[in-house]
Amino acid sequence: MTINIDAPYKSRIREALSDSGTRKAVDRAMGELAQRRERAVNAIDNETMRTESHEIREHAIRNLPGLLVELETNLTRNGCEVHWARTGNEANDILKTIARTRKIKTAIKSKSMVTEEIHLNTSLEEIGVKVIETDLGEYILQLADEPPSHIVAPVIHKGAEDISELLQNELGMEPTLDPSIMCDAARKELRKHFLSADMGISGCNFAIAETGTICIITNEGNGRMVSSLPPVYVVIAGIEKVVPRVEDAILLWQAATRNATGQDASVYFSMTSGPKKPNHADGPKEVHVILVDNARTNVIKKGYADALMCIKCGACMDVCPVYREIGGHAYGKTAYPGPIGSILTPLMNENINIGKDLPFASSLCGACKDACPVKIDLPKLLLELRNDLSKEKITSPFQRFLVKCFAWISKKPSRYKKATKIAGLTRKFSKESTQVFSKLPGPLNRWTRSRALQKPSNKTFKETWKDSKADFQVLKSPPSELVSSERHDRNKEPSR
Ligand code: SF4
Repeated sequence: MTINIDAPYKSRIREALSDSGTRKAVDRAMGELAQRRERAVNAIDNETMRTESHEIREHAIRNLPGLLVELETNLTRNGCEVHWARTGNEANDILKTIARTRKIKTAIKSKSMVTEEIHLNTSLEEIGVKVIETDLGEYILQLADEPPSHIVAPVIHKGAEDISELLQNELGMEPTLDPSIMCDAARKELRKHFLSADMGISGCNFAIAETGTICIITNEGNGRMVSSLPPVYVVIAGIEKVVPRVEDAILLWQAATRNATGQDASVYFSMTSGPKKPNHADGPKEVHVILVDNARTNVIKKGYADALMCIKCGACMDVCPVYREIGGHAYGKTAYPGPIGSILTPLMNENINIGKDLPFASSLCGACKDACPVKIDLPKLLLELRNDLSKEKITSPFQRFLVKCFAWISKKPSRYKKATKIAGLTRKFSKESTQVFSKLPGPLNRWTRSRALQKPSNKTFKETWKDSKADFQVLKSPPSELVSSERHDRNKEPSR
């Protein structure tokens, strides 16, 4: 079942929750990814790597202007042509001009989230350029005409049967569920395009300022083909991808790989520092780097610069209980689902109504923060964004009314005391002897339709505290036998 990503938020969530097949596929795959990730990060001193990765990314984002100028200088010195794009449309226009002037007919592309963000494929197709995705997962999605549902594993929502059926219909593959035969069928088809494409397009994992080098991480080798076989190679890079030094990129590569796929290192890490030189055996004749802002500076201006530290590893999605229930398509028309997407999507879209519900679709359990290899405090950003969105009156009047009532009650201890007393009385409305309300009356039953509500206690916390006061007083001073024991006598010489 495919979720309509253009549908309103609540219908998307309902659709996702009713699709048990996809839910199972996503939960199983996320569970496996999370386990692999756990093993890979436990094998090293993960806290040190997280701290260092955080420092690198924080430094890069705080010093973007200087680093970007350094990057441009060194890319140009290496023979690359650097272009600046304020918006996604500008980036697409630059690319179209490059394609038109060089009479490009076919382009091969490696997996890239920024190209999803700016809808690059649709834009190039408008001028008759055929774009072929070369990452296996992205290729399958292109055949299925679906957007990705995860930033690292884009086809995670599809089972083997769905993929087999698709490859049978689109490529004439014999019926099979053997993954290696399915891969072979796709590989044969892709090989033709690798050898004949006029242009290669990729995103960028890291752009090293000190050397003017573009780094891409892949496991299938397609990134290397895209960046070296066609005569023209175009890199689309978000401006936040810049890092100061080579060793920074190497450390972040490890952090990204361990957290994305649970590998010690990805199979390929390709570094491009310019077009083919006369003494090189191969490589592109031209390398263009399009540095795209597309609202990233707005994210900084709005006070959410930390969100740009993201290295797009996907770990926050793998551990997120919400993402694991609903999958990526339920987050709507966005390149970035999951916890980080819930922050970036509303901030990067001028129309605040796009993705406005996403920051509220979080349990704020903090699993994403604990997993993030660059230590982004995602729950804190989500809370701040909720606050900002409510100021912009994005929340419904009813929600605002409820929050105002809560604030009014909590501001005065006497009101709070009365309110908790009244809440305790609601137990009497239920004849059930259990500790939960399984069915609330009227519109309130929307809550209990999918979850149980804990009944308020008979006694308030303060009453319970008062009753237990005697016990607490006893515990205020340590038991006398401990005080007089030899172990606690600091003046006594330790026995040898
Ligand atoms: S926010 Fe952190 S965990 Fe999530 S994708 Fe970005 S780097 Fe990975």
